[in-house]
Amino acid sequence: MKEQRINIAIDGPAGAGKSTVARMVAEELSILHLDTGAMYRAMALKALRLGISPGDATAVLPLLPKTEITVESIDGVQHTYLDGEDVSTLIRTPEVSKGASDIGVIPEVRIKLAESQREFAKEHDVIMDGREIGSFVLPDAPYKFYVTASADERARRRLLELQEKGIGMDKTLESLREEILARDHTDSTRAFAPLVRVPDAVLIDTTNMSASEAAAEVLHRVNKGER
Ligand code: C5P
Repeated sequence: MKEQRINIAIDGPAGAGKSTVARMVAEELSILHLDTGAMYRAMALKALRLGISPGDATAVLPLLPKTEITVESIDGVQHTYLDGEDVSTLIRTPEVSKGASDIGVIPEVRIKLAESQREFAKEHDVIMDGREIGSFVLPDAPYKFYVTASADERARRRLLELQEKGIGMDKTLESLREEILARDHTDSTRAFAPLVRVPDAVLIDTTNMSASEAAAEVLHRVNKGER
């Protein structure tokens, strides 16, 4: 009998807590967590380092065959490699966040990254977070969740996250809120594989919920085999 992999898809807008929730669920179930946003970020970093605007498809396309983005889980923490270099910290700046959103509009970028994400899901039990995992990368995933929160709350969390990491210290709450709304717009209006809540995804609004409460909700449904 063919072994059935555990594949859990978590989608939602920037700063909703997807990655934190996914990390907690992965730990609890002893499965891997793949943060797909990190792969878009690594691709954007490559372009930015070369002085290429991440939204410039003509300049980005020739980079694709020459770029290798891989991930590895070390002690439950995802490390993201760009052409062999660990860029896990470098990809967390606001400039790279915007670049990731812009580069993700290019269909060929998405196709390349989605292929390796599907391979990953074939080889591992995984909880994968992104924007279009349930709709495009793993449309047959048995468990799908859409995690969201108000824009104000998401901006507040991003500010705390940046402060903890000591990056983007010039950012105000209002500027982060604007950046988040701009990314929401780019993510949900792109023509190819946009951010979308598929009808079979369970909605979890984390505005007034802690990450552990949201993770408990996911675990509850997965453990019950509820889809
Ligand atoms: O999730 P994170 O905020 O790290 O993602 C950064 C950007 O990468 C998002 O704003 C989005 O535009 C893009 N992205 C994407 N598809 C994914 C994951 C991230 O387009 N599956």
